[in-house]
Amino acid sequence: MSSENDRVIVVGAGPVGLTAALALRRRGIQTLVLASEQALVMELRGSTFHPPTLDLLDEFALVPRMIEVGLKAPTWQFRDRETGPVATFDLALLTGDTSHPYRVQCEQWKLMRFLEEELRNEGVELRFGHDVTSVRQDDDSVTVIANTATGPVEVTGRYVIAADGARSAVRRSLGVEFEGFTYAELFLIASTDFPFENTLTDIAYVNYIADPLEWLVLLRVPGLWRVLVPAPENSDRDKLLSDENLQAMLQRVVPRSDAYTIAHRSIYHVHQRVAKNFRHGRVLLAGDAAHVNNPLGGMGMNGGIQDAFNLADKLKAIWAGADDRLLDRYDRQRRTVAVEAVQAQTHRNQQMISERDPETRRKALDAMRKVAADRTSAREYMLRSSMIASMRRAAQIE
Ligand SMILES: Cc1cc2nc3c(=O)[nH]c(=O)nc-3n(C[C@H](O)[C@H](O)[C@H](O)COP(=O)(O)OP(=O)(O)OC[C@H]3O[C@@H](n4cnc5c(N)ncnc54)[C@H](O)[C@@H]3O)c2cc1C
Repeated sequence: MSSENDRVIVVGAGPVGLTAALALRRRGIQTLVLASEQALVMELRGSTFHPPTLDLLDEFALVPRMIEVGLKAPTWQFRDRETGPVATFDLALLTGDTSHPYRVQCEQWKLMRFLEEELRNEGVELRFGHDVTSVRQDDDSVTVIANTATGPVEVTGRYVIAADGARSAVRRSLGVEFEGFTYAELFLIASTDFPFENTLTDIAYVNYIADPLEWLVLLRVPGLWRVLVPAPENSDRDKLLSDENLQAMLQRVVPRSDAYTIAHRSIYHVHQRVAKNFRHGRVLLAGDAAHVNNPLGGMGMNGGIQDAFNLADKLKAIWAGADDRLLDRYDRQRRTVAVEAVQAQTHRNQQMISERDPETRRKALDAMRKVAADRTSAREYMLRSSMIASMRRAAQIE
């Protein structure tokens, strides 16, 4: 193999692809990033970073910058829309388990900007406008085929990390099943600069709010509150995203005489899906290309960033001569926690805050209240909800 091709090709310039590229670069592995867009995507998606992800990102010395442009969230809450706080979880209880006993609320595009800057400073090539359509591999190399404005191109390397998102062209070109389901409801999001904290005086920066009719999530990012509610699947999207509908939705959160300023609005189909395998010869799936889940718990991007560091460590060992069966271990470790931890936890969260049966609901909220009231059970719960337990579980898998 020519020295030029002695590299890893990363497909996708989202938080996972950029993290993988920088982690590989820092481990001395030549890397090339291909992405279909013309420049970084600034979509308002993820914003919650969990403690173990922050511990990993410490390697890039980026956490202080994220806190500077974000918010430290030392606590988070489950609430009842009618009666208020049900359980407040204080991440300080995790002080012995992480260097970052808090969440950081920082929009994912801000991290992506920092990563792009670091990559450019280190001379890693990012080729935008490369719409990957398929991959071809043989015993010692893999070739990525992409469409560009000037025609199709082929790029070869030793391995490919497919971090090309939920609709991954690489995963689909390999014919990999993306097993799971799609929620029957849409997720509707509006951001506003209205200071909900002045009315809902006991809220945290991250709040999952149960209600049998309209559950909601209230997330703080700098200068804005993000409000996430469910919407019936067969609704008219334009109507859902209309000022009239969003004003009505926000007025149901806190009624007021003035209209709300709506800074952003978006709507999503939400899936719980995991790829059948994360390894396909010389192609590794990571991030949303490998697993997608509902955002209740803020685990999707975090899980993907954890994939990226896991992979970079294994590829470093392979570059140093280790057997590439190590990549099968990546598959076992990361797929297991995607299913056991992330899929299970996020679906449980969705079920708990949307429960309609009064008795089941009362029991679930009482159980959560009890968990939070006891230091030992609260810590155990937070080890799971903050993804520390799943990182430890992955490390135990051979
Ligand atoms: C409303 C919402 C809120 C969320 N909140 C959170 C949260 O708080 N915390 C959290 O952890 N997660 C959250 N998530 C999930 C999070 O946004 C995703 O898990 C994360 O974006 C996945 O990153 P990724 O890099 O794998 O994929 P993406 O961010 O989807 O990036 C994929 C990249 O691949 C590129 N690409 C796609 N197709 C091609 C192609 N054919 N060729 C070349 N390039 C291609 C794309 O342009 C993009 O650059 C949320 C998601 C939503 C929708």
